[in-house]
Amino acid sequence: MVLEKLVLAALPLIPRPIMRRLSARYIAGETLEEAIERLRRLSAAGFAGVLDILGEDVADEAAARTALSEYRGAATAIAEHGLDAYVSVKPTHFGLRISEDLALELYGDLLAHASPLGQAVRVEMEDHTTTDATLRLFAKLHESHDNVGLVLQSRLFRTPADIAALPDGTIDVRMVKGIYLEPESIAHKGVQEIRDAFFECSLQLLANGHVLAIASHDEHLAARLLLAIGAGETPGERFYFEVLLGVQEPLWHRWKAAGHVVRVYVPYGPHWRSYSQRRLRKNPEILRHLIRDTFRRSTSRAPADARGSR
Ligand SMILES: Cc1cc2nc3c(=O)[nH]c(=O)nc-3n(C[C@H](O)[C@H](O)[C@H](O)COP(=O)(O)OP(=O)(O)OC[C@H]3O[C@@H](n4cnc5c(N)ncnc54)[C@H](O)[C@@H]3O)c2cc1C
Repeated sequence: MVLEKLVLAALPLIPRPIMRRLSARYIAGETLEEAIERLRRLSAAGFAGVLDILGEDVADEAAARTALSEYRGAATAIAEHGLDAYVSVKPTHFGLRISEDLALELYGDLLAHASPLGQAVRVEMEDHTTTDATLRLFAKLHESHDNVGLVLQSRLFRTPADIAALPDGTIDVRMVKGIYLEPESIAHKGVQEIRDAFFECSLQLLANGHVLAIASHDEHLAARLLLAIGAGETPGERFYFEVLLGVQEPLWHRWKAAGHVVRVYVPYGPHWRSYSQRRLRKNPEILRHLIRDTFRRSTSRAPADARGSR
């Protein structure tokens, strides 16, 4: 669609209030208070949470240390509000590209902070240039912390071997398709191949004794997995669902109604703009709905303060 293509190309030029309104369904807000409020509402509706502070590829050590301090505050706030949630961190937000030792130190600090609060910390997975370093980082953290989780991407050819090489013990692994478009020499390209790999990797994780977080909104894939997992597993114990705020909400309700644990990933922070642009590029279909919705609102009433709109 021409309008979509134009809007995608012009995303960086869109005025902040409009962009904020477009992203409101995916982002809880700019502050921790807004994110906690969103988690509280989700909790009241029966959903557990995951908190993510938007940020990646920090420029220097000071920025990575600031991120640690924000994440410590987020974990404390989750505990103070009695919420069932944990924090999830991109390795390059903790300085992985600057120094693996720095990332190791910062994750170690956060894990030690989260442990007495009864919380886990998830090491996220970024593009393939960071995969080896992220797996090294995870293995070292796992040696001394039992509350650290990982993410693996079914798009990458290497993932079955990475699962086989995971350290001993039960690891909570979030299985995703992978949001980064990778070279065809190292990654599946076809939609069905990525799906099939997700299915196989998920079963491999369960067979190897790990806990599986099915992080997908692909209803058919999830149904296929649930059929394969069958009655042998109790929902919530060895597998559960993770979903992104604002994406395919009716599906969350159906899974919850069927007795599954569903965790909603709630991103927030001042860097919402670059995150929103990535989300909208990922799914132009959503962009179409948002454009229609925005025009409808602006013709029916004066524009609301974007920060307050949902
Ligand atoms: C909780 C969670 C954490 C994640 N963490 C990581 C990570 O650490 N590293 C990583 O590489 N990837 C991560 N991802 C992203 C993941 O890799 C996929 O890019 C994303 O989940 C879309 O794939 P899908 O399995 O939902 O299937 P798709 O086939 O992409 O989507 C299924 C359906 O959901 C809709 N949909 C999916 N995503 C969106 C969206 N963003 N906006 C609007 N509609 C959408 C599609 O339109 C489609 O109808 C995470 C995903 C989730 C749910």
